[in-house]
Amino acid sequence: MSRPVFATIDRQALSHNLTIVRQAAPDARVWSVVKANAYGHGLSRVWESLSQTDGFALLNMEEAILLRDSGWRKPILLLEGFFHQEDLALIDRYRLTTSVHSNWQIKALAEAQLSAPVDIYLKVNSGMNRLGFRPEQTHGAYQKLRALPNVGDITLMAHFADAENPDGLVAPLERIEQAAEGLAIPRSLSNSACTLWHPEAHYDWVRPGIILYGASPSGDWQDIASTGLKPVMTLNSELIGIQQLSPGDGVGYGYRYRAQQAQRIGVVACGYADGYPRHAPSGTPVCVDGVMTQVVGAVSMDMITVDLTPCPQAGIGSQVELWGDRVKIDRVAKAAGTVGYELMCALAPRVPVKVI
Ligand SMILES: *Cc1c(COP(=O)(O)O)cnc(C)c1O
Repeated sequence: MSRPVFATIDRQALSHNLTIVRQAAPDARVWSVVKANAYGHGLSRVWESLSQTDGFALLNMEEAILLRDSGWRKPILLLEGFFHQEDLALIDRYRLTTSVHSNWQIKALAEAQLSAPVDIYLKVNSGMNRLGFRPEQTHGAYQKLRALPNVGDITLMAHFADAENPDGLVAPLERIEQAAEGLAIPRSLSNSACTLWHPEAHYDWVRPGIILYGASPSGDWQDIASTGLKPVMTLNSELIGIQQLSPGDGVGYGYRYRAQQAQRIGVVACGYADGYPRHAPSGTPVCVDGVMTQVVGAVSMDMITVDLTPCPQAGIGSQVELWGDRVKIDRVAKAAGTVGYELMCALAPRVPVKVI
């Protein structure tokens, strides 16, 4: 018998979420962002459920090669571009589209021996100050790239620091306008937040990630409650122990929780070594036997403890949902001071995964 913790990946929910993206951005083509092993869902498990997409966007050469070897023939975009000059040989061989954000990459493209031109995403720094050319450098970078026989189509790409905010695009879009002045080339600017909430930034290709997996780009699940997006990942386990506490009894490491009155506590086989956030405080929502209740006491490596007051019928073997349809991953993340993105990506390799 294996430990009862397991994750479920719902492929229909994933395809469904892609159709929601299409409705939100009907005039744009879609890069489905599957970096970080499809946000922890497993790229090899899920990519076929997204095969209606126009392209896949990711970071790792290994993931790009996996898609090509699995038979994906349509575009693949390397969001961070290439990391070393040698990577260009693989970009050429596997026919990848690459972002270009620095002058050394233009030089590398000029020097490479490629079998055919590669398509480029010219990255503009929208003000986030991570990757990309400043607006006033963009024309020069474009001219240099356009002159290279190794370069095929060029698309202008940018990313936003604050797209969850209704006014978060105003200053960045001005910078992008400045960068794009006089360049009649397609644009790709929109992450999930823009795809849902900023149609003015959709342009030619949108790049949604988190909403494909059914979580909120703002960290607040209510912001996507009316969109029809469905959670793709569920994390389940069972109660493996019950404790009857008397007033004043402590629970778990540091006795971080103490019972005020007589209280039944359930012990769940799931801890931070499974990917449950160690910082989830008492009060973090959890569902036991179909009833909403909460975590009490510290999260340990292999177990958490939960209040059974609202579910007196629960006992050993009762089903527990740590996150999924009933317990939104965004709520767990928020309680733990993080975002749904991190929890998905941190699902531990030791957790068995069922694909439905
Ligand atoms: C991760 C990423 C995205 C997707 O972001 P979400 O918030 O998950 O939609 C889009 N573009 C770039 C450049 C990224 O790195």
